[in-house]
Amino acid sequence: SLGGGGAGPPTPPCSCLRAVQLEREAQGVRNGGGLNRARSPPLLPPTPSPDLSSMATSSTPSINSAVCPSANISVASRRPLFLATASFSLRRLDVRSLSSLPPGRFKAPAPISVRSRSRIPACASAVMEEATKRADSRVSTVVDVDLGSRSYPIYIGSGLLDEPDLLQRHVHGKSVLVVTNTTIAPLYLDKVVKTLTHGNPKVTVESVILPDGEKYKNMETLMKVFDKAIECRMDRRCTFVALGGGVIGDMCGFAAASYLRGVNFIQIPTTLMAQVDSSVGGKTGVNHTLGKNLIGAFYQPQCVLIDTNTLNTLPDRELASGIAEVVKYGLIRDAEFFEWQEKNMQSLLARDPSAFAYAIKRSCENKAEVVSLDETESGMRATLNLGHTFGHAIETAFGYGQWLHGEAVAAGTVMAVDMSHRLGWIDDTIVKRVFSILQKAKLPTQPPEMMTVEKFKSVMAVDKKVADGLLRLILLKGPLGSCVFTGDYDQGALDETLRAFSKN
Ligand code: NAD
Repeated sequence: SLGGGGAGPPTPPCSCLRAVQLEREAQGVRNGGGLNRARSPPLLPPTPSPDLSSMATSSTPSINSAVCPSANISVASRRPLFLATASFSLRRLDVRSLSSLPPGRFKAPAPISVRSRSRIPACASAVMEEATKRADSRVSTVVDVDLGSRSYPIYIGSGLLDEPDLLQRHVHGKSVLVVTNTTIAPLYLDKVVKTLTHGNPKVTVESVILPDGEKYKNMETLMKVFDKAIECRMDRRCTFVALGGGVIGDMCGFAAASYLRGVNFIQIPTTLMAQVDSSVGGKTGVNHTLGKNLIGAFYQPQCVLIDTNTLNTLPDRELASGIAEVVKYGLIRDAEFFEWQEKNMQSLLARDPSAFAYAIKRSCENKAEVVSLDETESGMRATLNLGHTFGHAIETAFGYGQWLHGEAVAAGTVMAVDMSHRLGWIDDTIVKRVFSILQKAKLPTQPPEMMTVEKFKSVMAVDKKVADGLLRLILLKGPLGSCVFTGDYDQGALDETLRAFSKN
């Protein structure tokens, strides 16, 4: 920003230059070429970087390394989280002490009666045994996302949309805007409106029904939410409710983050993808034609309400798409969960309620734990993006909505695992197990035929994990359940993987 206080227009020469540059970059992507080719290669060669484990053993651990673009973040599932905690504790203190959110966001809900409540366990196995014993079709569970003043509960259970108190306790003010789409509205909008207003005549509920699809996850559609909120005179005390899958959740969250500079919002995820991943952790945003989710904000909801009954209407292909993210948690940090998935994949595909309940709970626990350690993705949280750099390239180059997000992530995961193997970081049994579990889940294990090496490279060059021209990737390293987030890899292995999975 040039100029004081954002009052005046941007300085003309600067904005013109940027416009020309953006147009050139757009042409580069449209032509399938690399971005900024003349100035630098699309993916710069990696530079050596410190490893977090060596930082932890050094007598003077460097806090700056936690935010250094080229630092490696190693995460191993069965080890207590001391490595990551050591590096991220200062960041968490900073975030908490500096945060200033609108009054009312911190209203402590009255205690509720639930069958089990987990506060981000450090050890997966104990929770797993307990949960497996308890899992039944009507399991009621609360997973807490521990973010200090921005902490919130994730309620998981069947029939939770029929419990007005659960939802109403997180509504602030008298006006609610439900954001949903043309597919979900006929299925669940009436029910949600009834739940919000039951015994609560003072609250006014409005809704905005957006077109359905990833291709509508953009600024134009987002404006419809603002239009409705402004037309209805929603004030700062209003609450936005996201009713839908990840597309609705991401857009509604971003709208809530920016409307009147931030209003309350609640997530009611209705796809498996949204229940195990996108509704938790506060990443919100929209796509740009040049790249996925490039415009957005970190903004945490008041609560996440997961009614597993909503999965009964979800098409099979969408269900499989969500399973791609469930598999991810097993691979990056929870080997026992991966083993459970290998044994229970058929039950998940058959929509067994207890298998759903367990998979959602365990996924939310994993996500909550990572998010609580690294809310704004300065390192560890990036590990949740296993396969996503390749996957986002597929989604962007193929056209939003051609493949489902989880389908692209599944193919991307196979590529990340292939590259990890080429680097000699994992043995081939892991490669085979990943391939096999994704096939069982009926997910793609290679990118669509239209993907070329150039297309991958040009889109990956604008990935959010590029720092100072260096593409950082999440790769598996060591035993099952261990991964690294690093830019320190042999570029040749990346090239070989791209060549092996796409046309030159
Ligand atoms: P989606 O939101 O497009 O939903 C998939 C389809 O299922 C849509 O047609 C939707 O209308 C329909 N649907 C939703 N619930 C239904 C139900 N109960 N019954 C019948 N149909 C239903 O896709 P998604 O897979 O839920 O989410 C993908 C999006 O989430 C992507 O944009 C991705 O970038 C984003 N995402 C975000 C995060 C995050 O951390 N914010 C994480 C993962 C994915």
